[in-house]
Amino acid sequence: MFNVILFTDTAEFATKTRGYGTHRLASHIRHNGYSCIVIDFASVIDYNTYKEILDLTVGPETLMVGYATNWMPFRLPGEEPHTMEPGRNGRRKSDAEQFDQLENSRYKGTLVTAFAHGDADVWMEYPKSLNPKLKLVLGGNKINMYLDSKLTDHFIMGYAETMTIDLLDSLSGKGKKRLFNRIIDHDHKAQAPVWDFRESKTTYTEYDFITPQEALSLEIGRGCRFKCTYCPYPLIGMKNVEDYLKYENVLREELLDNYNRWGTTRYYFMDDTFNDTVEKLQMVLNVTRSLPFKISFWCYLRVDLLAIHPEMIPMLKEMGLAQCYFGIETFHDKAGRAIGKGMNAKRKKETLKKCKECWGDSVSIQSGFIVGLPFESSDSIAETAAYLREPDCPIDIGWIFPLNIANGDHPITNHMYLSEFDRNYKEHGYRFDGEGNFLEWSKTDDTDIDSFKTAEAVAGKNDVTVSKRIYKGDFYKASLNHPILSNRELTMSMTDQEYMDLINSIDQSELFYETVMEQYFKPLMNKLRENNKHV
Ligand code: SF4
Repeated sequence: MFNVILFTDTAEFATKTRGYGTHRLASHIRHNGYSCIVIDFASVIDYNTYKEILDLTVGPETLMVGYATNWMPFRLPGEEPHTMEPGRNGRRKSDAEQFDQLENSRYKGTLVTAFAHGDADVWMEYPKSLNPKLKLVLGGNKINMYLDSKLTDHFIMGYAETMTIDLLDSLSGKGKKRLFNRIIDHDHKAQAPVWDFRESKTTYTEYDFITPQEALSLEIGRGCRFKCTYCPYPLIGMKNVEDYLKYENVLREELLDNYNRWGTTRYYFMDDTFNDTVEKLQMVLNVTRSLPFKISFWCYLRVDLLAIHPEMIPMLKEMGLAQCYFGIETFHDKAGRAIGKGMNAKRKKETLKKCKECWGDSVSIQSGFIVGLPFESSDSIAETAAYLREPDCPIDIGWIFPLNIANGDHPITNHMYLSEFDRNYKEHGYRFDGEGNFLEWSKTDDTDIDSFKTAEAVAGKNDVTVSKRIYKGDFYKASLNHPILSNRELTMSMTDQEYMDLINSIDQSELFYETVMEQYFKPLMNKLRENNKHV
């Protein structure tokens, strides 16, 4: 039996990817002296499995059962969900087809679909039938979309480390009894000086059944010193990013521990900007040089910092860069300046070329481009698409998509992190016409992109012209239990045709189901049943 039970889902549907934030929180809860189990892959949990998990984990000592909203479907409270595909974020009605696909598959009637339909009450009643004193808590970055969940005792907003411990200390009597609002947000950036991020590790337990082919997520630093106008991340514009950078020995121990216990060598580095400083990269390089194994990783990079500090480029290769995402957003210089990414396009493109020359084809370079930024017209977007189509373009996978602004005056955006565009859209020339409209912006400027709809159409028209190079070492696909797919060294040595033939021969949704049933739920349930025999 556990003090805390946390449910979460795969961070990318139909791949075996752990919900990092929940495991980070669970590690912090355990570090503070409470027992905690994470139940992953909620999109596979049917009601009977859910009940049995709770029967085997909830006891008189249980203080809280939590549900992470991060990977639940996008929805508006009170409305039918726009998409049921777990892991999807902010999608629109056009995703109805995917919704149907999921509803007509084996994923119908799971914990995730119950929440998405707004009828999780019967699910949420069950833990309290076992222990009426425990608290039901929702956390994660979509709580605003699930505020109509009537039986939820508390919603915890944002980074939950310190607030969760405050709640548990009060419930357990370890700390002073405190009264908490239904929405708990008193330290939603987790910056109260009661813990030190630099000393924190995210640890997995014998209940997680981590397998070597999985890529685990890891934060080396938390927060970003930049402040791009379209960026809704909560910890941007931070002056003290050094105070949220892991100590070298802590990072080394975390990587070693994951390797020794689970055979882990693949990572998603979740830092908002992995290459913030040369000193940070040097620290990570020192760590990777000292390990008795090689890691490979995915991360977010800023190309302008690579232009200013070109010495970072070979450092990244040496430490094990495999895939990266550059949020370039635009090659229109004036639009770039308007969003806080003002380096001129020529220098950005030269730097991308240097990256490709140094990294070769073993590193997949991905980048996104936004349609609808101030001053940028459809002609400029067409030029970007033409660049992305060039046979020797250093960007392997480019996406062109419309600008998302959430109307900061709409009630749905309460308890949601907002970008500068979201909060002050009028100052940036955007408006929302019509009552209840919270995503469909309009603008009047010198460009031909005057609304979200136009941006969507221009983005769609150009995006389809951009071919995406096949990346045969994709971490997501390699996470599944398949003898060839999970072997990145083997798939990377295949021809594109061989790899595509392999992908086309696999039903990924079915493989995901089989993977998590065989590698996770079966051993987990056996272990929990075994534990209970000895109680
Ligand atoms: S877009 Fe990236 S660089 Fe800009 S503020 Fe957000 S996290 Fe920082």
